[in-house]
Amino acid sequence: PIDAAFLRRWLDAATAAIDREAPVLTELDSAIGDADHGTNMRRGFTAAHTAVEQEPPDTPGGVLVAVGRQLISSVGGASGPLYGTLLRRAGKRLGDEPVVGAAQLRDALRAGVEGVGQLGGAAAGDKTMLDALLPALEALSGALDAGGGTAEAFAAAATAADEGAQATIPLRARKGRASYLGERSIGHQDPGATSSALLITAFADTAR
Ligand code: ADP
Ligand code: MG
Ligand code: MG
Repeated sequence: PIDAAFLRRWLDAATAAIDREAPVLTELDSAIGDADHGTNMRRGFTAAHTAVEQEPPDTPGGVLVAVGRQLISSVGGASGPLYGTLLRRAGKRLGDEPVVGAAQLRDALRAGVEGVGQLGGAAAGDKTMLDALLPALEALSGALDAGGGTAEAFAAAATAADEGAQATIPLRARKGRASYLGERSIGHQDPGATSSALLITAFADTAR
């Protein structure tokens, strides 16, 4: 069941993955940004993990809102408000139901991703986190609509997110710091798309 415990396991997996991959995220950001994406994400997820441990919310929506709030308040960079908006909005969409279905979680994540687009003004192909998140949502939706189970659907989403992140390499950045580089942003994988793939993979690992 997708309950508060499921979302807390997701947070455990996400925090561990961000911690492990922080040097890679920072390395990617050093090529086309300001070399802080790993540090930003690690600070945000560490704060979120601690907050949820100290005061565990009793609904899945509550966990997402708590994580989003911590990301907004603890991360200085662009990724904090963007991921914070995604998770807060998704959590609010779930409301205070103690258990939700995979399709409800999908709809909530979609609302969150739409919030990222509204806040940051980016679209598909702009070489941002959306280039991992949008294909992940599409794969998640497609798998659920085809009658797939939660584990299968999130596994498909994780694969799509990874592919989406890799597909940012030849793109020219049109939003965020990397866009200042213009043509020189081509040839590097977007750090935010890479961290998005980690967060989606954490859902797949949790649902497995
Ligand atoms: P900063 O650029 O402020 O240092 P981070 O390094 O933590 O923040 O995050 C950079 C990532 O944020 C980028 O790789 C990109 O994926 C994402 N990003 C930046 N601006 C936007 C935007 N307007 N819309 C969506 N994602 C964005
Ligand atoms: Mg940065
Ligand atoms: Mg920065």
